[in-house]
Amino acid sequence: MKVLVTGGAGYIGSHTVQELLKQNYEVVIVDIIDLQHRDALPGVSFYQGDILDKDFLNGVFQKERVEAVIHFAALKAPGESMREPAKYFYNNITGTVSLLDVMIHNDVRTIVFSSSCAIFGNPQRLPVSEDIPFSPESVYGETKLMGETVLKWFDKTAGIKYSALRYFNAAGASLDNSIGEDWSHTENLIPITMKAAMGVTPSISIFGSDYNTPDGTAIRDYIHVVDLAVAHVKALEHTVQTRASSTYNLGTGKGNTVREVVEAVKAVSNRDFKVIEAPRRLGDPAAIWADCSKAERELGWKAQYSLDTIIQSAWKWHSTHSS
Ligand code: NAD
Repeated sequence: MKVLVTGGAGYIGSHTVQELLKQNYEVVIVDIIDLQHRDALPGVSFYQGDILDKDFLNGVFQKERVEAVIHFAALKAPGESMREPAKYFYNNITGTVSLLDVMIHNDVRTIVFSSSCAIFGNPQRLPVSEDIPFSPESVYGETKLMGETVLKWFDKTAGIKYSALRYFNAAGASLDNSIGEDWSHTENLIPITMKAAMGVTPSISIFGSDYNTPDGTAIRDYIHVVDLAVAHVKALEHTVQTRASSTYNLGTGKGNTVREVVEAVKAVSNRDFKVIEAPRRLGDPAAIWADCSKAERELGWKAQYSLDTIIQSAWKWHSTHSS
């Protein structure tokens, strides 16, 4: 099967492309940025362009005869989304509608969509199952929820079948160290802590050390990017086979505090750095982790990798590829 991966030059996208190739899919990538680490993704067709450009996108569909889509292309920084909401609504919502329109035009009706645990905001119940109330705390989170709503309507009106995957905190790098995260445009804890461990930044800030958690810092569910990549392939297969749409929460089902992550980075890197205790940030939940039982039951998927593997693989990647 030939799969178009939008945002395939990005972090989770490139790891998913690697997994698709491993499982003998043909892969076409569309991304607005150039494709790095081409050696790690042999045989892919790459098109540099914007999913908002329908003529360009239609040209790719016509030329490549794609059969299904995995849609990662989006802006992803919650903080930035609060400063530049129009940019986020336009890119993430209009971009998704543009893609769906071109899919229908080309009679492609299967899609796996990158959603996020950001749709839940400060969850009322833990662990977070698929059906707890949605309450995004950022424009970014709202764009992911709206993306799911758009998909629901395209299913009803045009027969598009989808899996919406709500990732918790993606982290780590490929285990063969061939691809990893670009830390230049991320607000995520692990790459930011790696920067401090490598001396690129002088310190890191922990936002909130007075939460009602064992060490006072916020709890998140860190999921290895390769586990996520595997889940995308399983979700794609499931959607093709069942011709049914569904949503899945993807995490490990276990939370770690910010302080635990920082200490683990210090231990793995064998480096010390300054940690500043800063005030809580507006909208940050105290604790969030996933109930992944639906993905296990329906997709036969369960996270395999621990926080240790996440940090070891991320350290190996950043200490050999970032500057
Ligand atoms: P990333 O920034 O590394 O990758 C996104 C890619 O999409 C980039 O390469 C970017 O150039 C591309 N892109 C953005 N807008 C585009 C457009 N209009 N046209 C073409 N390409 C475009 O981010 P990532 O961490 O790999 O995230 C992938 C997806 O997963 C995003 O949708 C993100 O919202 C979602 N997500 C990420 C996390 C996480 O922890 N990283 C958690 C939950 C959800």
